[in-house]
Amino acid sequence: MNTLPIRRSVVELCLELSRRGHFSGTGGNIALRADAAHIVVTPSATDYLTMTPADVCVLRLADLAQLEGDGVPSVETGLHARVLRARPDVMASIHTHQPVASACALLGRALEVPPGPLRQSLGPRVPVAGYAPSGTGWLAARLARQVRPELNAYLLLNHGALCCGPSAAAALEAVEDLETLARTHLLGLIAARAVNHPHLKRALRRVVDALGGPLPAP
Ligand SMILES: [Zn+2]
Repeated sequence: MNTLPIRRSVVELCLELSRRGHFSGTGGNIALRADAAHIVVTPSATDYLTMTPADVCVLRLADLAQLEGDGVPSVETGLHARVLRARPDVMASIHTHQPVASACALLGRALEVPPGPLRQSLGPRVPVAGYAPSGTGWLAARLARQVRPELNAYLLLNHGALCCGPSAAAALEAVEDLETLARTHLLGLIAARAVNHPHLKRALRRVVDALGGPLPAP
């Protein structure tokens, strides 16, 4: 198997996620399906701006044995593997600490997705996987309990998000769409608070501006 093209795809996808602000530093990682039995994952603790295809790791999906790559596989490899094993339709899995969805992950509530383009990309809701420390089998198991065929985005409580899709482009779109959904959700919460707490108006305005507002009508 010539894995060079898909290892190049991992590098390009990481650069795009960094450029769009979804990967801060080395915070975030991805896995792409190479074929039915193999996946490629980002290396651990590597600067994505200097990463090369040689650093990207090729693993056997069944037992995560490393077959190629100079790097050490991402600590969240187990997280991606649970998604890729449960969802044969998924070709790409992206874990981010994207800013607005991660704020929603602190609130710990599932997000309902309105009918329309966002629902086509994300599915009808975005569930929350319970908290467990990064890189543990415990976290992977908690996410696995939430995985459904129709859901392409998941919040990880107090941590971040995982998005997936039938292609790298679709998974990247899910990352963007989750950020859009999370922004709308937070602005709705702020609008409700502004009505009930007029003395917070100035502070809430700063948050709305940071989120790129405007507030929805109450
Ligand atoms: Zn993380």
